[in-house]
Amino acid sequence: MFKKILIANRGEIALRIHRACKERDIQTVVVHSKADENAMAVKLADESVCIGPAASKDSYLNIPAILTAAAITNVDAIHPGIGFLSENAEFARMVEEHGFTFIGPSPKHIEQMGDKAVAKKTVKELGLPVIEGSPDIVPTLEEGQKISKEIGFPVLIKAVAGGGGKGMKIAYTAAEFDNAFKMARAEAKAAFGNGDVYIEKYLGNPRHIEVQVIGDTHGNAIHLGERDCSIQRSHQKVLEEAPSPALSEKERKYIGELSAEVVRKMGYRGVGTIEYLYEDGKFYFLEMNTRLQVEHPITEIITGIDLVREQLHVAAGNPLTFKQEDITFKGWAFECRVNAEHPETFIPSPGKITKFHPPGGLGVRVDSAIYEGYSIPPYYDSLIAKLIIRGATRNECLRRLNRALSEFVVEGVNTTLPLHNRILHEEEFRSGDYNIHWLERKLGLKPDPNAKKDKDSEAA
Ligand code: ADP
Repeated sequence: MFKKILIANRGEIALRIHRACKERDIQTVVVHSKADENAMAVKLADESVCIGPAASKDSYLNIPAILTAAAITNVDAIHPGIGFLSENAEFARMVEEHGFTFIGPSPKHIEQMGDKAVAKKTVKELGLPVIEGSPDIVPTLEEGQKISKEIGFPVLIKAVAGGGGKGMKIAYTAAEFDNAFKMARAEAKAAFGNGDVYIEKYLGNPRHIEVQVIGDTHGNAIHLGERDCSIQRSHQKVLEEAPSPALSEKERKYIGELSAEVVRKMGYRGVGTIEYLYEDGKFYFLEMNTRLQVEHPITEIITGIDLVREQLHVAAGNPLTFKQEDITFKGWAFECRVNAEHPETFIPSPGKITKFHPPGGLGVRVDSAIYEGYSIPPYYDSLIAKLIIRGATRNECLRRLNRALSEFVVEGVNTTLPLHNRILHEEEFRSGDYNIHWLERKLGLKPDPNAKKDKDSEAA
């Protein structure tokens, strides 16, 4: 096992990784920007190194600075965390070339899954169901129009380098297509430096269901069940739960086993997530994330497995400590992403936390790196805490979440806690009857086709 690890990330995930290391007596080095000098992970790490100014491109994305920090602190391995360089194949390659272990999959797999058009083609060949769409990138407007007419509107134009919902535009009709195509390309180019796009049929009422997988370097790969991440805003997850209230035991087993089989065939090492859209009893591959996910704790809750510990274990070249038949799912879990944002306008709210009282008690876990007196810097994403709830049943989770939200106090900045409270009290959420559009329709950000239908039938 490793003796010393460099954590190339920030915020709660840097702390999460530090915690897993601490429990295994692995020394940690946390690198940070000038703006993160007072971060909790920096304070708790065995060592810390400032790698540059606030802007991510000069610090958390600064590969030479990170590798230099790794060399001077003499670490064995580098954990890239989530976001930043975690899905950068070039970084993974350079880490290994400099003699450190990259805690993640091989650069080849990161590359293959990082281009979403290539990923789709690859997993289709390996046997996963995919959404109808262009077989490859779509280079011109004319070709895009032609393919869209073939598959039928509405269509979704998506960036091959996509992430965080960027570079994704819907065209409901042929007339809307040209504009949407141009906008998707421009947005993708600005966000990822790559404007290539592909086209998919736009599904009307799907759920987002993803399967946690893990593989080792000995040819073993298993799944750890699914997470339902359908509560979204702007294609971004807001609240997740595991298991999914929508799947039958048969469907759960089917998609879990299929996902594990694909990962085994790939010879994939490390943790990963295969994301699907699920509609009318059918699954469609969306993408594979070749890293830890923000929402990994809910899988830890229902399986009892520390995913970061297991990630370190397989990265060090060890075989998985369990087999598929050892994995049992117990109880239910929710995760609320608490962002420092206005709960209605979603405008980021950086600044000083004047009061912080996280909830506690049975079945409540808070993964957060903020503390009273801490100033949230304005340069990074606005996730400040994950409220994770465990219950024997979904109903117990609902009651416990209500109790935990009533205890949670954050003052000095706006947070999305009131949004979670609102979601919790909505009937559709309580009954598990929601899809990826539900929250935006509820918030009035998207037209509700059912409401329209009701009006039409009233008029008729
Ligand atoms: P990103 O990598 O930007 O997160 P994904 O491909 O994972 O992009 O999709 C993000 C979200 O966008 C999904 O969870 C879903 O809500 C929506 N989405 C993606 N593809 C489709 C589709 N073909 N039809 C309807 N919604 C989609």
